[in-house]
Amino acid sequence: MTTHPGLIKRLDEVVVNRIAAGEVIQRPANALKEMIENSLDAKSSNIQVTVKQGGLKLLQIQDNGTGIRKEDMEIVCERFTTSKLQKFEDLNSIATYGFRGEALASISHVAHVSITTKTADSKCAFKGSYVDGKLKEAVKPCAGNVGTQITVEDLFYNISTRRKALKSPSEEHAKIAEVVSRYAVHNSSVGFTLKKQGENTADIRTCAKSSHVDNIRTIYGPSIAKELLEIQHEDKKLSFKCHGYVTNANYSMKKCIFLLFINHRLVDSSSLRKAVDTIYQAYLPKNMHPFAYLSLEIAPQNVDVNVHPTKHEVHFLHEDAIIASIQSAIETKLLGANTSRTYYTQALLPGAPVSLDSKEEDPNSSKSTSGPEKTYAHHMVRTDSREQKLDAFMKPVNPSTTTTTEDVPKDTTQSEDSQMETSPSGDVMVLPSCGAQQKRRPVKLTSVLTLQEDIKENMHKNLREMFQFHKFVGCVNKEFSLMQHQTKLYLVNTTKLSRELFYQLMIFDFGNFGILRLSEPAPIYDLAMLALDLEESGWTEADGPKDDLAQYIVDFLTSKAEMLSDYFSMEIDQKGNLCTLPLLLDNYVPNMEGLPMFVLRLATEVNWDSERECFDTFCKETSEFYCFKPSLFQNQEKESTDSQEEEGVTDKSWKWTVEHVLYSAFRNLLFPPKSFAEDSSILQIANLPDLYKVFERC
Ligand code: ADP
Ligand code: MG
Repeated sequence: MTTHPGLIKRLDEVVVNRIAAGEVIQRPANALKEMIENSLDAKSSNIQVTVKQGGLKLLQIQDNGTGIRKEDMEIVCERFTTSKLQKFEDLNSIATYGFRGEALASISHVAHVSITTKTADSKCAFKGSYVDGKLKEAVKPCAGNVGTQITVEDLFYNISTRRKALKSPSEEHAKIAEVVSRYAVHNSSVGFTLKKQGENTADIRTCAKSSHVDNIRTIYGPSIAKELLEIQHEDKKLSFKCHGYVTNANYSMKKCIFLLFINHRLVDSSSLRKAVDTIYQAYLPKNMHPFAYLSLEIAPQNVDVNVHPTKHEVHFLHEDAIIASIQSAIETKLLGANTSRTYYTQALLPGAPVSLDSKEEDPNSSKSTSGPEKTYAHHMVRTDSREQKLDAFMKPVNPSTTTTTEDVPKDTTQSEDSQMETSPSGDVMVLPSCGAQQKRRPVKLTSVLTLQEDIKENMHKNLREMFQFHKFVGCVNKEFSLMQHQTKLYLVNTTKLSRELFYQLMIFDFGNFGILRLSEPAPIYDLAMLALDLEESGWTEADGPKDDLAQYIVDFLTSKAEMLSDYFSMEIDQKGNLCTLPLLLDNYVPNMEGLPMFVLRLATEVNWDSERECFDTFCKETSEFYCFKPSLFQNQEKESTDSQEEEGVTDKSWKWTVEHVLYSAFRNLLFPPKSFAEDSSILQIANLPDLYKVFERC
């Protein structure tokens, strides 16, 4: 018998599809990216991702988008079914993410997929389960909210080689977190959540309607967020626009973080990444890198959209020229940030409702990119902080005894390892921190995350912009200052604003504070006794002997020592001495007069029973202590005003602090609450055009 040649058989279609699908979906993060893009295409404003074992066991995405019509449920997982493309020519102008109709089909060939979905006009939701692109059985009605939930289980159950090739679940989880983080920063109007199944706290949580900077702050930390420069660049010749945020030269880290979106698709371009990194070589220490988030809009016909889904690396027409153009835009911005800041008012004409994300909210707006608009003389405002301020007219400043604005950093945003500061009273010293960039501990406590969300949700957008672009005019006294925004002059309550600022810093930097070390440990007992002697404490004989109360306070706070030190950088030693306080803002030390009352109130006013209440009230008490206010002891205050002339140093230092520490932080860090618009924290006292009218009459 002769041996027959091996029969060539056509591969089973299912096997072909499976192999193809394995090429498209190489790891859980690829699948998730496709599903997030589908949810965004469906106009969702909230996207929740739940995973188990790095997405290998379970990968679930729930959105509140348009949902899928019942009639379409049968075919959604078939290849080349899409609601987004009808003709070949559409490829050139496609604005939605997907166009291949391949993602869901691929996933269903390598995993168990089920979809629960409801459209707005359907009475109930429908659920279907899929194998190899087909419905397993007829879809079933069920309960559900408008939107779509897609559950992908046992990814690669039928391709053992792929399953084995994947790294650990934790590495897959990290990849997933990276994808969610990036989409969350880019789509800041959409709220994202990433959670491990069965865990209460989310790994990532952003709010709907936040800004890019909010989300960079939430995800990558405030030390990055406070050093960002906005890039807004358009090149008509090359038909592209670029918007984004890059860190300034104050910030650097070992590994470059580079988020790139081209036409709203997360991609990578190693040449652009290198080009951006190169600019910083001139500014940053050796081997240190920046953070950059860039969103490019390139004429669709110039980008090859038809890239393989796993090939994130993109190429586009005129690549070198576009990269050079972006490079010079960033360079200019970096250079500009090095010298005095200049604010251009053209983007902020009075009356025009300006939003930081104007581009996103109004895609048709050409405001940010059109040429400079005409500014009439009476709408011009002082825009350079080097120009004179109120102080200059008050009294001569002796340069040998005072710290002048010029030799001190303008911002509070200096690098973290450069502080060594003594307070005016000399009783507190800031410890220089050890590493250049300390690693931030992520906050996972739901209570704290909720408090953060409350603050963000309660933010007044216009006030936020006003503070971002204000010019500091001068201090009226310790409680009030004047600031200018556009053509208006405002009287601002520094005390109230700083109280809110410190509260917010407590909530946002929770568990990550620097340390203010008291030059000598302060006995809590003595502090408590001092406080009880104050009228303010409200102590009466009915409360029992003061020394018993003081001892109770020592014991109580000592019993909380571990938590106080871990969360709030407040160290209490075994002898009941307070050794450190949290460093909330560089170059800022609270007035130690308030320390006794602070200690007393921590024991008596903080609600220690429920977690959220406890943190909330704790942070409120701390902000009361830290806020900037006139001295408690009025006589002293009076004296110091009288002797202001001689005490140039102290006088200068509080004004310097108000302008360069507090108002600078109001500019960069504060989310002004809505109540500030109504409670006379901020009062408009003059409007320049109105003043001109007065002068004209004279
Ligand atoms: P594509 O996105 O390229 O059209 P997909 O395979 O990713 O292809 O999705 C197929 C179709 O399923 C989409 O065109 C859309 O109609 C529908 N779809 C998928 N996910 C969602 C979702 N989250 N919400 C609404 N429709 C969806
Ligand atoms: Mg898609």
